[in-house]
Amino acid sequence: MSGAYAGGMEDVVVCDFCGRQAAASAALTWTTSVEGGRQKRFCDECSRTHLRAIEGKLDSDWW
Ligand SMILES: [Zn+2]
Repeated sequence: MSGAYAGGMEDVVVCDFCGRQAAASAALTWTTSVEGGRQKRFCDECSRTHLRAIEGKLDSDWW
């Protein structure tokens, strides 16, 4: 957890593909991927849609 969202609120994570936001506790099933040394997160829907690309570790720029 980065702690970027201070103030007592639960951490919020954002899907790096569609921009969907969810509480960290609701995003446990999201997919995480490291691209170019930077961690990205993808929501359930994008994870399903792009499962092959994620598993192939293709850069999302090529999706
Ligand atoms: Zn998404």
